Parts: sequence; structure tokens; C-alpha cells
Amino acid sequence: MARRGPPDDSVGVVYLIHFSGRTAAGHQHYLGWSGDVCKRFARHKSGKGAVETRKAIAEGLKLTLAQTWRGTPADERRIKEERRHVRRGFAGLCPFCEVEDELATGLVRRMGPPTLRVVRPRAEVVVGVAHRGSSHRI
Ligand SMILES: [Zn+2]
Repeated sequence: MARRGPPDDSVGVVYLIHFSGRTAAGHQHYLGWSGDVCKRFARHKSGKGAVETRKAIAEGLKLTLAQTWRGTPADERRIKEERRHVRRGFAGLCPFCEVEDELATGLVRRMGPPTLRVVRPRAEVVVGVAHRGSSHRI
């Protein structure tokens, strides 16, 4: 089974396109991979990119490049597979949809450049004074 396209470990950009509404098939997002996301997105907008985006354009929806991550075609497939098991689907990864889930944060952390890492503020360590067992005498 020869698969056309770049090798699974090619580093490029995994991108998420948000549609301004749902297609007749009920889709509002498209996830893809490209070595040249600007060119690829322009192709999607021209209605030639993929079946889903072509349908969205034909139905009068607007396409927005909602999120990108540095990643490989293997990452793209992994996310597609994971999203299938989540009710909200790609909306959980989309900044244009007001939902967030932990899995999405995890994906970003694994794939994104360092600037996308979640930095948690360090808890201040308060050294308490132990009273129990003190040998204080009156
Ligand atoms: Zn969205």
C-alpha cells in the first residue's frame, strides 16, 4: 500500500481551520499538515484544498486559520484519531470555539514550540513552625 505524500516524520505544520459555521455534514473544522501552511491555506480558501474545505466554501462559509503547531504527518493522524473519541472534536483545540480541554493542552505541549508550553506559577513554599512535640515548658 503505497501512500502518497511526505514521510511520516517530515517536520512541517499541523494546522486547524475553523469554518464560520457548520457544513451540511456537520463539520466546523479541518485539520491538516503541510510543509508550507500559507500556500496550503490559500489553496483551501480557493476551494481546492480538500473535500471538507471545498464543501465549506461551496456552502458559503468562511475559513480561518485557527491554530498551528510544529509537527509531522504522524502527529496530524494521531490528533485526528484522538479527536474521534472526544465529543467536542476539534473544537477543543480551537481558539475560536470557546471550549478548552486538558487533552488539547497536552497536545500543544507535546508538539508546539517552547513558547506554547504551559508554564505554571511555582507555589511559594511556606516553612511552617511545628508546634507539636515541642518541649516548651512553662
Ligand atoms: Zn473552532
